[in-house]
Amino acid sequence: MIRDHFRVLIVDLAAGKGSIVKIDGRDTDAGGSGLAARLFNEYGDVTRPWNDPAQPLIFAIGPLTGYFPLMSKTVCAFKSPYHDQYSESHAGGRSALSLRFADLDALVVTARAPRLSCLLVGARHIEIKDVHFLRNMPVDKAGKRLRRISSGSGHRSILRIGPAGEAGSAMACINVDTYRHFGRLGGGAVMGAKNLKAIVIQGDGIFGLPGGADYAKLFKTVYRQLTTTDMMDKYHNLGTPVNVAVLNKLQALPCRNLQRTSDANIDGITGERFADDTLLRNMACSGCPVGCIHVGFVREKFMAPNQYLYRQVSYDHEPIFATGSMLGMTNAFDVLGIIDSAEKMGLDVMSAGVALAWATEALEKGVISETHTKVPLQFGRAAGYRQAMVHLGLGVNDFYRRLARGTLKAAAHYGGADFACVLGQEMAGYATGEVFFAAQALGFRHSHLDTGGYSYDQKHADKNVDAAVDFLVHDEQERLILTAMVACLFARKVYTRELLGDCLNVVGYRTLAENLDSVGARIQHRRWRLRMDSGFDPAGVEIPKRFTEITNWKGPLDAKVLQTLVDGYAKKIISMAAPAGKSE
Ligand code: SF4
Repeated sequence: MIRDHFRVLIVDLAAGKGSIVKIDGRDTDAGGSGLAARLFNEYGDVTRPWNDPAQPLIFAIGPLTGYFPLMSKTVCAFKSPYHDQYSESHAGGRSALSLRFADLDALVVTARAPRLSCLLVGARHIEIKDVHFLRNMPVDKAGKRLRRISSGSGHRSILRIGPAGEAGSAMACINVDTYRHFGRLGGGAVMGAKNLKAIVIQGDGIFGLPGGADYAKLFKTVYRQLTTTDMMDKYHNLGTPVNVAVLNKLQALPCRNLQRTSDANIDGITGERFADDTLLRNMACSGCPVGCIHVGFVREKFMAPNQYLYRQVSYDHEPIFATGSMLGMTNAFDVLGIIDSAEKMGLDVMSAGVALAWATEALEKGVISETHTKVPLQFGRAAGYRQAMVHLGLGVNDFYRRLARGTLKAAAHYGGADFACVLGQEMAGYATGEVFFAAQALGFRHSHLDTGGYSYDQKHADKNVDAAVDFLVHDEQERLILTAMVACLFARKVYTRELLGDCLNVVGYRTLAENLDSVGARIQHRRWRLRMDSGFDPAGVEIPKRFTEITNWKGPLDAKVLQTLVDGYAKKIISMAAPAGKSE
């Protein structure tokens, strides 16, 4: 049965206590991104630093979680160690359904535990366990121990950090159920600052589905669209790595720290190559019939001669670009090996790969030396990168500690800002042109998923800046409605506005179904307000020179158009954050 309020568990790690609060706003804040922003407004403080123990770490699901397929994401919100501003990161795995079965719309973690701890929450209990013996334990090993100390399986989700999170790295992720991540903007460090090695969500409650034929009929329709049309095929078959060859052909794949946009030897790391040579199996987030998670293997020598073990490593387009083409790698197993090293440290693979690409060019140019990197970094050589991931995760010296705060922060100290591939944070894997660069640099999460800027570049040859800015603003709002529902954005073509309305109606959220437009605008305003109140200045965003030096299938990048786009989008963001009825 649906509720007219949100049921939220607030945990105080210092006091070792939790309490359930009822929060209104079901019809205006929806859930996911909307609920997270609402909760940060109530429990966070934009003026205090990210690692102040009082700052909340928020996990929120949506009104359709558990009712329909691919409503599988959890929105994690926090003040980011990367830029000390309000941020979001999204992940799936079993996290969303576990929260639903724990009878929670959101979990808010506050304060700092006195010892390294694991928080266990369920439908009727919370427990905070001392796990000091997991300190600095890599993510894979910690996972094995955590599975043993937390009873039950089923709808159980394990969120954990590695040494990078404990060290306070702004590139530290929160690993979710091994193959998914709250990857970007340093959520792992926020857990580390709370002395929280892990959160185990035990979905041990009961969750009832609506009776009657209408719900069952609509569910079947949605399921059929997801499984029998070609809208989702790409994600199941080769998965997002299908993009590697496509972008390379377009000269839009960032290679060797974006010194190039294609690589003649790309065949060794395409989606096709990964599937042919390395793929073990596909996996899926709970409640997803698509299964886009591709798990490959890396073989390692094991103790005695001629004994081998293999490790399972998930891959997608983004990790392949960041640790593959950006680092000049041409062998799929080498790429998986580097991803594996980053994963063990609990690093966001994208940020870490792009940071090491900058370090490699900085080393080539004499901006830094091997005294800084401790290992030789050379494009195309995997061994150095595997070790460098460990150094970066542990923060073994001043250089790696600076780099872990962000590539531009390291460049501000050593030099080399011109070739730092940073668009708000380390770039995503698309050198498609002006619209994407402006979109990531200014986007709320600095994510390629904030808007479809990369796709706009591929569909529009004109240089109509106003049309592009309008697209970014509108597309962000459309996606925001989906992330308020916590839909997987891969299903955005299936979950049209009309279908979402039908789904909400059949479950019982009729007012919300009627007001999706105003709800989207409200969430968009609140998120940007929080972001700007916590220090974001859209008008001050600068794009490093390297991005203006690329050439892709459209020809050389137009730096003037890029700057006009950045200025225009910045103005729109400022007006979206303005109080209702006012534009700044
Ligand atoms: S398509 Fe992939 S990311 Fe999306 S819900 Fe399914 S398995 Fe998870």
